[in-house]
Amino acid sequence: MNTFIKRTQVLYRVISINFVDLSFTPSISSSSSSSSSAYFLLNNKTKRFQSTHIKLKMTGRNTQEAKPLFQRLPQSIVPTHYDLTIQPYLDTFKFNGDVNIHIKVKEPTNNIVLYAAELEVDNAKLKSTSNNEQGGKIDYDKEGERITVNFDKKLETGDYQLALKFAGEISSRMRGFYRNKYTAPDGNEVRHGASTQFEPADCRRAFPCWDEPNFKATFDITLITPKNLRAISNMPIKAENEYANDKEWKITKFDRTPVMSTYLVAYVVGEYDYIETKDSNGVSMKVYTPLEKKEHGQFALDTAAKVLPFYAEYFNIKYPIAKADQIAISDFAMGAMENWGLITYRETALLIDPKFSSMDTRQRVAIVVAHELAHQWFGNLVTMDWWTDLWLNEGFATWIEYLAVDKCYPEFDIWTQFVADTFARFLIPDALKSSHPIEVPIGHPAEIDEIFDAISYSKGSSVIRMLHDYIGDDAFRKGLHNYLTEYSYKNTVTENLWSHLAKASNKPVNEVMSSWTLQMGYPLLTVTEEQTNKNRVVKIKQQRFIADGSADDENLQWKIPITVFTKSNAKKIAQQTLMDKPEITMTLENVSENDWFKLNYNSIGLYRVKYESQTLARLNEPIANKTLSPQDRLMVQNDVAALCNAGHQSFVDYLKLLPSYTDEDNFTVWKSIASNMGDLSSLLEYTDYFNKFKQYRLNLFSSIQNKLGWDAKPNEDPLSAMLRPMILGIVGKSGDQNVIDEAKKRFERHIAGDLIDPDIRGAVYVIVSRYGDESTQEALRKLYVAADMTEEKVRLLRSMGQSIKPEIIENTLKFVFEGDNVRMQDSISGLVGCTASRDGRDLVWKFLQKNWTTLVERFGEKSNFLIAFVEYGLSDFADEKTASEIKEFFETMNTPIVARPVKKVLETIHMRSEVLKRDSKAIEEYLKRHQQQ
Ligand SMILES: [Zn+2]
Repeated sequence: MNTFIKRTQVLYRVISINFVDLSFTPSISSSSSSSSSAYFLLNNKTKRFQSTHIKLKMTGRNTQEAKPLFQRLPQSIVPTHYDLTIQPYLDTFKFNGDVNIHIKVKEPTNNIVLYAAELEVDNAKLKSTSNNEQGGKIDYDKEGERITVNFDKKLETGDYQLALKFAGEISSRMRGFYRNKYTAPDGNEVRHGASTQFEPADCRRAFPCWDEPNFKATFDITLITPKNLRAISNMPIKAENEYANDKEWKITKFDRTPVMSTYLVAYVVGEYDYIETKDSNGVSMKVYTPLEKKEHGQFALDTAAKVLPFYAEYFNIKYPIAKADQIAISDFAMGAMENWGLITYRETALLIDPKFSSMDTRQRVAIVVAHELAHQWFGNLVTMDWWTDLWLNEGFATWIEYLAVDKCYPEFDIWTQFVADTFARFLIPDALKSSHPIEVPIGHPAEIDEIFDAISYSKGSSVIRMLHDYIGDDAFRKGLHNYLTEYSYKNTVTENLWSHLAKASNKPVNEVMSSWTLQMGYPLLTVTEEQTNKNRVVKIKQQRFIADGSADDENLQWKIPITVFTKSNAKKIAQQTLMDKPEITMTLENVSENDWFKLNYNSIGLYRVKYESQTLARLNEPIANKTLSPQDRLMVQNDVAALCNAGHQSFVDYLKLLPSYTDEDNFTVWKSIASNMGDLSSLLEYTDYFNKFKQYRLNLFSSIQNKLGWDAKPNEDPLSAMLRPMILGIVGKSGDQNVIDEAKKRFERHIAGDLIDPDIRGAVYVIVSRYGDESTQEALRKLYVAADMTEEKVRLLRSMGQSIKPEIIENTLKFVFEGDNVRMQDSISGLVGCTASRDGRDLVWKFLQKNWTTLVERFGEKSNFLIAFVEYGLSDFADEKTASEIKEFFETMNTPIVARPVKKVLETIHMRSEVLKRDSKAIEEYLKRHQQQ
């Protein structure tokens, strides 16, 4: 699965660029129904967690509540096949269904327990192989989302078929079998379709089933639908006939699926156009789009046709089924979902308008398509045994999506972007005390939603990248192939991959990896140096890096693959070692007194580095002359910023370092700088010298802005097309009058029909929204209503709240949340826009307090959007008073899913307020001196 909004961290918050939605990863939070220490004991991997020498710390879990223990379904009855028929009624939003489940009873029993939620189930009948039939009586366990079918006569071991009839509602909450709203091509008439989203545990809302990933079975799916609608499912259509009971309806039967988990079942009913092709191995591929927009599917189709054969070759396993379809669903909570053979996407993650989509949307689509296609093997063919190993599924897909995009679109230089977007991204939440290990023991399914977060995706993929580098590509591919082959159509656990990789590489994979997957956080390496004649003696100490600079009480330690390189051979690793103690010493030979050295070649190791001031100062030169790779250039300043936040250094050091980047021209390096500057901006907004800081920011970004200008150069690379709007946005928000005037001019021409280049359009919207008045807002709202492309709508939504006028921000919040102007899944983009200013943050906080109960009702108490509202809406404060208000408010609200996000927010605010207390005076003095020069 690919979750939804990418915040490009702070970039977005203050400087707010063309950020692309998707890949939002709500973070872990504690759940009301969790009593995790007890759940642990029921998990079949308990032993692993107990025997490991690593101390597991499960902070934030709610251990006091005495709810009944969660137990997975027993293995004494297993399903092998489902015959499933569904008939949806889109006028009443109801559906009927019947299912005939082939089961094996392995121990004699009087009842059968399976999952069903929000369904009326009746007419239970059990047939044995000898055709003996008996009826069953159904008991509901609403809380446990299960039914028990009780029989008078004891069932002996053997094969049976369990038939059930059921009915349910096509819901509005974007999970289970739910409705999709769209307008007819005429732009007026509102129509509905329906589609499924089952991961992690919502298949049970669509039909009764063994809804756990390790009960794999085959599925014969039949849909009964009105004739004018398309009926689509995982597999190709086997037969389509008129429905005997009503000739306005048809009955569509699909081929049998492979053996697979319930969370991967999918069916969609609605009006769609499509385009199609075959990949180089003959796999049939379609991209389904809204009516009359089939050309918007071309880019995704082309990408998929390149990526699918790439994976087949990389894994050395052919794509397992006959088709690989993709479809854009109008109402979609996540970014995309890897249902086998029918991948569902939100529109902005799949559709590219050849004329009006921006370059970063293209890049994003390529990435999401590559992510979902990787799951067709890693996840679908070989599936985690239980959600505890979800991180491996998501971390792996997130790593290999970059490998595939790099292969198909080298012009995106995507591995460099990995460091800024994925690697540097988890380093922030994982430094909080409220973080969690990537391998989290999951008991109750309610805990599953908690782990679709930056730790699972971003840290998971960074760990895989480090491992890939540690054992090398040949061993990695070989081990991976063996693993995927051995566990095809089966379930597995993380260690099984490690042991195949260990065998293929002859390296202690399990030992090295467990320190990264079973404990939270990551190390800070403190480096001290001494010159002895021609050699540099380097001492390295490890300790957990904690965001606010506090000491690690638990004294966590890691096994760290370390690399060092030096000036004399800047493109090669000089020394490498596996650091497996608290402290090591390395001697770098033939390094003269003025030569620089640096740890972590290309920023592959999962650690931050703290150098002594002279060691850091020597790096100015290879940064300025770009001897260091972009990955390394960006991480030097990223580490310094984090060390400043933690109080290891003063932020003045960061401001002094940045001038080395004045001539920087790499998109990704600027993205990382912009992100850190955004953070700092949102903090210094609470001081009375903020204007001086804006001047500093303007100076920093001016030369690159002059270089890039407003308009694309002929044959420009795609990275410049992405850098330009980012820089324009920053410079505009820093008050550059020329840029502001030009943006206003272009906006006026835009409204008159001379359209702005889609690459810079988002930046223009933000600038005019910020400096404009009510009439500008009116114009933005009109554009929003008129836009028929979701990408454009989201661009507009993000800009609206970025005004500096409080009444406009208030109106934006109303526009986003009241009435039905904005789809539920897009409201977060509107909200985040409003947090771009100090006043806006206050208004968002007031809004959330006033409307929290309504939001919980509308989105559902388990919705990931609630997490996003809290994390994105409230993290940017910098005072303890607001922190305690937030704490008190959520203590009275009792919304368990945001318990951990609230902790994260409080920790972040505390850290920010400490930075202000500690460094504010010195920053002010530095800025004064700096600007007098
Ligand atoms: Zn995924």
